Amino acid sequence: MTPKPRLATIWLAGCSGCHMSFLDLDERLIELAALADLVYSPIIDVKEFPENVDVTLVEGAVTNADNVEMLKKARVRSKMLVAFGDCAVTGNVTALRNPLGDPKAVLERAYTDPADLHRKIPCELPVVPPLLPRATPIHQVVQVDFFLPGCPPSADLIFYAVTELVAGRTPDLAGKYHFG
Ligand code: SF4
Repeated sequence: MTPKPRLATIWLAGCSGCHMSFLDLDERLIELAALADLVYSPIIDVKEFPENVDVTLVEGAVTNADNVEMLKKARVRSKMLVAFGDCAVTGNVTALRNPLGDPKAVLERAYTDPADLHRKIPCELPVVPPLLPRATPIHQVVQVDFFLPGCPPSADLIFYAVTELVAGRTPDLAGKYHFG
């Protein structure tokens, strides 16, 4: 029996909305499971990104050192890497922090109680992976094979694109997608 294609999804700096839309496949998740094995994802309990993945969907932009490490690992271990949603494709919401410049300002705004603004905080907090100077779309870090726009992409679009990709075909998105 021919093994099924191996599908993975990862979540970098995003809001999880693209994965929520993936879950909106509802009963079509069962159809998808008949076509491909989901070998790694935030929605299954696998700790290490595996070798020999056929298609990997990447949600989110690249905004910290952990994102870079995970994305590069997924790239090396995947035949087809897909920018999944607008944050991965363009930076989108995640990149809204870029005009603030120095990541230290972002950390201060997010993690310092306004009542304590007079206190100095370290630029790198032990609980937060070091932020990169800018949040970037994933194609600025690794080669991307396919772009699936949308914030989030609709469940219908995800189902169409993923079933085509795991079948080894290139989805034709003309007239099927929009940004935002
Ligand atoms: Fe969330 Fe939209 Fe970014 Fe997807 S593209 S992670 S839904 S903000």
